[in-house]
Amino acid sequence: MLKIRISSPQAKRTDYVSGPSIVIIGGGYTGATVAKLLVERGLRHVENVTVFEPRAQLGSGLAYDTGDPDVRLNVAAHRMRAIPGSPSAFLQWLHTSGTLTADPAAVTSEGIFARRRDFGRFMQQQLAPLVEAGVIRHLPEKVSTASRVNGRWHVTGAGGTTVAADMLIIATGHPTAARPQALENVDRRTARMVTDAMAPDALKDIHADSNVLIVGSGLTALDALMRLKAYGHRGTISLLSRSGLLPRPHAGGGFSPYGDFKDETLITARQVLQKVRATIADAAQHDIPWQPVFDALRQHAQTLWRQLPKTERHKLLRRLRRWYDVHRYRMPPQVSAALVEGMATGQVEAMVGDLACLRQDGQDLIATIATREDRVRDYRCHHILLATGPDFRDYGTHQKFLLALHRDGIVQSDPLGLGLSCDQEGRILSAEGSPNTNLFVAGPPARPAFGELTGVPEIADQAVNLVDLVLRMLARRHRTIFIGRQE
Ligand SMILES: Cc1cc2nc3c(=O)[nH]c(=O)nc-3n(C[C@H](O)[C@H](O)[C@H](O)COP(=O)(O)OP(=O)(O)OC[C@H]3O[C@@H](n4cnc5c(N)ncnc54)[C@H](O)[C@@H]3O)c2cc1C
Repeated sequence: MLKIRISSPQAKRTDYVSGPSIVIIGGGYTGATVAKLLVERGLRHVENVTVFEPRAQLGSGLAYDTGDPDVRLNVAAHRMRAIPGSPSAFLQWLHTSGTLTADPAAVTSEGIFARRRDFGRFMQQQLAPLVEAGVIRHLPEKVSTASRVNGRWHVTGAGGTTVAADMLIIATGHPTAARPQALENVDRRTARMVTDAMAPDALKDIHADSNVLIVGSGLTALDALMRLKAYGHRGTISLLSRSGLLPRPHAGGGFSPYGDFKDETLITARQVLQKVRATIADAAQHDIPWQPVFDALRQHAQTLWRQLPKTERHKLLRRLRRWYDVHRYRMPPQVSAALVEGMATGQVEAMVGDLACLRQDGQDLIATIATREDRVRDYRCHHILLATGPDFRDYGTHQKFLLALHRDGIVQSDPLGLGLSCDQEGRILSAEGSPNTNLFVAGPPARPAFGELTGVPEIADQAVNLVDLVLRMLARRHRTIFIGRQE
């Protein structure tokens, strides 16, 4: 008979003497964390946990798989609670690994803002021993199909490897950015001058004196700005967005989160907004800046999201999303300093409007920008960098294996455009709305049920809950006996 040790506060490890198999699609921060927790809390049988991830390493994914020294975490290291049960692991690692000695610019009066590649390295070091020991199998293939056969999953990678699984966890993270419609009909030559700002070689053809239009003004756009500056860019850099809003700076002073948003009466977008405004005003009375208020709001964001009826969630996204994002996703102090300097010298400008049309004029691009006042203006530049951020709309059809599941009614895109429809346990909802019992989603595409699920600490919490659920379900399904080991 199959024997399991299941995790509990007293019994920390769970061992399968022989056991079922779990496949995770995607090995970025989310997939890697789920895999690590499965091993630590439950599955110890070789090849029980398989992660399909085309990148060479587990744990870094889109955000942290970068060699670029100029892009930094937008959260201070002590808030990157990446390892469940060990909230200061990353901060300690920064000190003990010599990373801070090599990167003294990480230390600012607002906290330590490390390089993103260093966080990726930290995560890789967490995963590497488990992969080397064979307790996590890393298959460096992109999944092309996943189908249910007699209640089990058969998952096949682009390299032809197929793995059968009792449970399948989708952790495919961020999709690509949306391309503005204006770019749909541009010819090939013009299209070559438009690049995804997140691509590693996005800047390679950009001359230092050229004018660059960055479409987007969020953190991805500011990353592009930092990379351009590091390359010694001298030309004008314009950040175009519909709102014109830019991410806000962090506050120094080491303030704790301020405000109580544990309030069951907040059930409309307007009430949430009023409460935030009132709390900011109250904080100001005590000489506390607005940032700690947003930190408190973030802590309760998942509860607030659950309280809001669907129509109010929709309203919140439509009317308050950009406002929330610029306060919640703040720029690192190093970026803030570069932006202030760039704006003061006139090299950097923020433009409000919509890219309506693009055409080529000799070596230049003419971008027609529709402004809020229904006016249009032509803007001459040499390159366009797309930094509109990942587009989660139609998530259920954005890649091949999901499209097939979508066609079979096994998954569905969330109508609010946040990811895959799922419940608060991460179980994916079928087209009829019933929760799948062996198909889960983890990380940002599970936002429809959680609202706030982009940052590392929130993902870590979801991973813990999901892993405990999966282990409980496996235990029940396989009629196992539990042997709790006291540690
Ligand atoms: C640029 C950027 C900077 C960020 N900075 C911070 C920060 O400073 N602090 C913070 O708390 N949060 C930050 N975040 C947010 C957060 O850390 C991310 O949300 C988190 O990395 C999500 O990880 P993920 O594994 O879910 O997604 P991703 O990082 O997108 O990884 C998904 C992985 O799935 C793989 N994949 C996709 N499809 C398939 C398939 N079919 N088969 C196999 N594999 C597949 C991809 O190769 C990828 O590696 C940042 C996010 C971004 C994008």
